[in-house]
Formats: sequence, structure tokens, C-alpha cells
Amino acid sequence: MSQYSLEQWQQKAANLIIEGRAWIDEGYCRAENDSTLPSINPATGLPLADIADCSEADVDRAVSLARAALDRGDWSRRAPSDRRLVLERLADLVAKHAEELALLESLDMGKPVGDALAFDLPQTEHCLRFYAGAIETQTDEVLPTGDQVLATVTREPVGIVAAVVPWNFPLMISCWKLAPALATGNSVIIKPAEQSSLSAIRLAALAAEAGIPAGVFQVLPGQGKITGQALGLHMDVDCLTFTGSTLTGKRFMAYAAQSNLKRVWLECGGKSPQIVFADSQQLERAAAAAAAAIFVNQGEVCIAASRLYVEDAIYDDFVQLLLREARQYCPGNPLDPASRAGAMVDQLQFDRVVGGVTEALAAGARTLTDTPLIAAQNNGWFLNPTVLECDSNANPLMREELFGPVLGLCRFHSEEEVIALANDSAYGLGAGLWTDNLGRAHRVSRRLQAGMVWINSYADGAITVPFGGRKQSGFGRDKSIHALDKYTDLKSTWIDLSH
Ligand code: NAD
Repeated sequence: MSQYSLEQWQQKAANLIIEGRAWIDEGYCRAENDSTLPSINPATGLPLADIADCSEADVDRAVSLARAALDRGDWSRRAPSDRRLVLERLADLVAKHAEELALLESLDMGKPVGDALAFDLPQTEHCLRFYAGAIETQTDEVLPTGDQVLATVTREPVGIVAAVVPWNFPLMISCWKLAPALATGNSVIIKPAEQSSLSAIRLAALAAEAGIPAGVFQVLPGQGKITGQALGLHMDVDCLTFTGSTLTGKRFMAYAAQSNLKRVWLECGGKSPQIVFADSQQLERAAAAAAAAIFVNQGEVCIAASRLYVEDAIYDDFVQLLLREARQYCPGNPLDPASRAGAMVDQLQFDRVVGGVTEALAAGARTLTDTPLIAAQNNGWFLNPTVLECDSNANPLMREELFGPVLGLCRFHSEEEVIALANDSAYGLGAGLWTDNLGRAHRVSRRLQAGMVWINSYADGAITVPFGGRKQSGFGRDKSIHALDKYTDLKSTWIDLSH
């Protein structure tokens, strides 16, 4: 829980200076055609700021400045030890401005400010420090060849990296892309989501203060179908790293094919299963984890375990535990430190979730929670945690990502059956299982089609451990040392030793 009261956070919010312009080259900048988008506080429905609505011309300008910076070499060819110091300074500035950044995140996308301060900000800072430290651990190779030649393999920055990011963890996910791409010497352009541009814009100013040179890190807010598409189709962007929906991820692959074959990395949607076996002796912990896994951050979490399979023998008892835990995530004012859930990011997402629940009910799902789906809170978009019992994976709730606080629950009878149910999905991001049987834990985890599996927990994470999925959840990994591979090219150099 944060150290401030609701009234103190409200006072801080009232005094906050909010910047909505793009960051191009080395300063704030209006969109070339002066057009803007409104940024709305989803907890109140009131406008927060006008955000630059960047056009294709703005993208062209930022890309040519990014290219000029690369060619200048004041970042791309800078000594690794210097790059490390600058990234460490940026981490220090993020720590120094943590309250302001947490507040921006909360006002902009509706998450509880306490969660932003306790989770998003420390994760962001740690990410920057981790990749700062990683810079000087990277080594090149000399490989075995004939006696008369020497072959080296060196890593080079891939060039201009465009990062198109979503609204659910705006700052943290931006840094999952930014930090390894900057660490490896690239120029980076971030296109934040329309709903949540404020923290990335602020980060650009902090990066300049930390010593990132002009044109090396730029932020272009704007619409996906204009700014995002222009980056995806740009002939001089070398790499497009994306987090967002599977539909948009597929578009980026098409943009790459239609333009310059830029490399594309995708972290997309999920419909992650969690399985509770009757042999688990930790049912209370499992119920708490199952509730947190879908209701934290209003369910707007890519790895949300939105499908829960519970073994028949413990089903009824487990449901009681689960419903007790679910009640704790009834939403409140995001600025109230006691709130464990806030507002949905915007009306579109609110309507999408309400529509998904209506569809699930029409297909035979039964509501187990005793609160109405829609929670009344001034003019904001608030939803209560909702558990729907489904008979099978045929219900659309068990198949389609809703990205809201809605859990689909199903019973199962055997290990084989539940493995098939869990894998019966277009997605493959996360998966969880609860069992006290060691053999079963390994056996089932090996067969789950997911990039990440949690056994007797859900959603543990560390910057050292890769994060990402399989199937239509995308490919490539954020976090960990492996992310550096995404932003570097290998160069093989042959040296003739015979003369
Ligand atoms: P989205 O795909 O609608 O938008 C993501 C970004 O893409 C935004 O910046 C948006 O402006 C841009 N965009 C949208 N349409 C575009 C287009 N036609 N061309 C180019 N760019 C376009 O996703 P969202 O609604 O912002 O985020 C929710 C989704 O993100 C969910 O599916 C969630 O699972 C996924 N997500 C995945 C991860 C992960 O690590 N796998 C993490 C967080 C969120």
C-alpha cells in the first residue's frame, strides 16, 4: 500500500504537469499537422491532456533523425562502459520520479496508483539497471577455422528499432523493449498506445536528462492505424518490436512483408489456462493465486489465467474459496491506496468485456459471483470481478481473450483430459498447475503448449527470466539476456592469415 492517502494523491494529481507532445530529436514537438487525440481519465471520464496525433510525415522525420544518430555513432559506437553509465542514470531518474510516473500511469489507464508504485515502477527501474549491467558482459567470438584464416563473429546493433506497445503496463513494457535495444546501441522509436502515452513521453525527457543523445530515443504518440502502420511499413525501420493483440501482430508481419522485410518480434494475446488437481494440499493458496491471476490490473494482463480447470473431486469446495478471494478485487478509485482494482482503460474495452460476458451467458455459461458485472463508480468504466462456469471449451469465453476481470471455470476428470483442454487454444502464452505430485508436475508441465509454466504459483517473474509465448501468442522473448539477441545482428568477418 502506498504511503499517501486518497486525498494526498488527489492533491498530487491536481498539481501534476502533464505533457502530451511527441518527443522528436531532442525535445517536445507538436504533430506536423498540429492534430491531437484526447487522453481521458477512465476513472472519471474527464479529459487529462491532448496527445500529439503523429502522422506519416512525423514518422519520416523521426526515422531520418534516428538514422542520422546511428550514423553519427555518438550512441551506437559509444564505449559500452559509457552506455552503461547513461542507462544507470536513467534508472536513477526513474526511481527519483517514481511517484510522478506511477500517478501518470494510474490517471492515464485506470490502474491503482498503489499497484503502479509497488509493481510497475520498481520493475521498470530494475529492467533499466539489468540491461545497463548486461552491456559489458557481451562478448564476441573467434571460431575454429583453417590454419590460414581467422574468423570472428561480432554483434552489431540492428539499426532503427520501432517499439509499438499496449496500454496495460505502458511504462514497464516500453522499457522491456527500450532497455535491451538501447543497451545494444540502436536508435529507438516508441509508439505508445493511444490510451496511455503519458508515461512514455515523460520517459523520453528523463532519458535526455540522463544523457541519451538526440534522435536516439524518440516517442511518437498517435493512432495505431496511422503512426503504428507507418512505422511497420517504413523502408528504413530495421526492426519492429510489438506487444499487443494477435490481430495487430499479424498486421505487423504483413507490413514487414510489404516493405523491407524488417525483423518483427511479437508478444501477443493469451488465453492462459490454470489447472488445479485434487491432490494439491495448497487449495487456499491456489484459490488466492487463481483470483489474483485474473483480477489483478482489472484483468488487463496478457498472462492473465482466464481459463481455470478444477478437478471434479474438489470442485465445489474450491469454488467457495475462489469466490471469497474474488470479492477482494471489487474496483475502487485508482487513487485510493486501498483499491486492489481500478477502472477499465476505456469505454471500448469496457464494452468489449460486457459484450463478451453477454455472449458467454447466451452460450450457456452460469454466473457464480454475486455482484453485478458493471460496478457503479461516478462516470468511469468499472467492472466487478466475475466468475462464469462453463461446461466445456466450446463456450466463447474459454476461447477468446476478453482482457477484463472475467474468469471462465470448467471442471475436469482426468490428467489426460485436462492437458487436452489446456492445449485446445490458439494461444500459448502462460499456463499454471497446482499439484503435490512431483512426477505429475513435471509430466504435465512438459506437455503444456506455453512459453511460461508456473507450478504451485502463478505469474512469478524476474528480469533475468525470458517472457513470451508460442502459437498465436507470438515469438521472441522480452526480458533476460536473450532479449539482446533480438536487437543485434551477427557479423562474420574472415581475415586471411596466409600473407
Ligand atoms: P492493440 O493490438 O490494439 O494495440 C497495441 C498497439 O498497437 C497500440 O500501440 C496500437 O496503437 C497499435 N496498433 C493498433 N492497431 C494497429 C495497426 N492497424 N497498425 C499498427 N499499429 C496498430 O492491443 P491493445 O488493445 O493495446 O492491448 C491489449 C492486447 O495486448 C491484448 O491482446 C494483450 O494480450 C496483449 N498484450 C500482450 C502482452 C505479451 O507480452 N504477450 C503483454 C501485454 C499485452
